[in-house]
Amino acid sequence: MAGELLHFLLQRLEQLPSATFRESELASVSTSQFRSLARQGLLVYQQKDPEQQRFPCPTPCEVACDRVVGQVGGKTVAICEVWPEVVNVPLSAADLAVYAFGMDHFLDCFREANGMTGSFGLLSDRLFRIGERRIGQVTTEVFLCLVNEASRAEAVLATVQGHRLDGGRALCIFPSFAVTDPLQVQKWGHEQIGLATFSEAVKLPTLQINLSVVERQPGIKARASYPARTPAEERDYGNHQLAYLCQDRLHFSGTWQARRHTIRMNETERQLADHLTRLLVRLVIELKKGRGGWVSTGVLERENIVVGRTVHQAVSDLRKALLGALLDDVDGTKLIQNDGKRRYRLSTHPNYVYPPQAGLPGSQDWFVLTLNNLKKAGVKAREKRAVQQKRWAQRPGPSARP
Ligand SMILES: [Zn+2]
Repeated sequence: MAGELLHFLLQRLEQLPSATFRESELASVSTSQFRSLARQGLLVYQQKDPEQQRFPCPTPCEVACDRVVGQVGGKTVAICEVWPEVVNVPLSAADLAVYAFGMDHFLDCFREANGMTGSFGLLSDRLFRIGERRIGQVTTEVFLCLVNEASRAEAVLATVQGHRLDGGRALCIFPSFAVTDPLQVQKWGHEQIGLATFSEAVKLPTLQINLSVVERQPGIKARASYPARTPAEERDYGNHQLAYLCQDRLHFSGTWQARRHTIRMNETERQLADHLTRLLVRLVIELKKGRGGWVSTGVLERENIVVGRTVHQAVSDLRKALLGALLDDVDGTKLIQNDGKRRYRLSTHPNYVYPPQAGLPGSQDWFVLTLNNLKKAGVKAREKRAVQQKRWAQRPGPSARP
């Protein structure tokens, strides 16, 4: 999601939540970002009669009037009604095209990028609930606060406090305003309400929220999000050769629908396409051997784990598919770890990867069986494509027709 223009829009809404925007001013920030946000439905065109529109008077007339729109010599211009002799300002179509910010859709994008659940929407004209995410034992609710001064911030945060779920904590994101009074920061911290600016908490262009910013705030309790490790697991995390970076729990459901496999990463369900499941399962098989889990790019290529794309591309797709579901990893580079020597691994404890119906005899073989099936499916799909291509190549050319 385009960054600069998004900041501009949010900061304007912070001043005035009902603000609308002229295409000309949006394009002056960035034409390409304007087009991209309009295409994504985050800027919504408003039908507005030119005669109803008003423009600031650049020559400050006596009363600093709002100029009206009129036609002079076939051109659309902004006219000062106080001093008719001052020069009219020419207006373009972009000056007259008005857009509103698509807040509902923006909240949708946020929720999707972060695997959020729960209710969302407007709580007051300056406060939006984006949703909630449960990590381990703790639920964090996320709010967007459009305020530009300390007294408004207090009122909005009091509303947050009144709407909170019991026992969890809240993260309030402000587009640019920062609560700087240390007593206020501490007070809200004790209420388990964390405060952060947009640039501290949100990563662009993916819109991922870094929930751990909350923990930097005084008064907020550290979360007990991880189930306790067994002594053996504790030893493995301390072992230099293994040194897993994450504690994420990955559950395979064993169910496929339309060639998509449902997995659960921690608390979040995701659907993975065949080729991503194939790569993930291959990494699991290596991890389950208990020797650190590293697989080289060469091996992944030789075993036809990735087909029709580079290993790098497939890894990047897999990381993207897991975004928002991971415990501490913002972009997936910790969980799908690269060692800088063209090797990759799934960097969590092997005990934390569960086949369907874990505990049944033979369930460890599930990963190997699944990988074989996925490879066969991949070969079939490739053969089908090859046959189609061959048919296409052998179709009668124009000269062969009677
Ligand atoms: Zn004027």
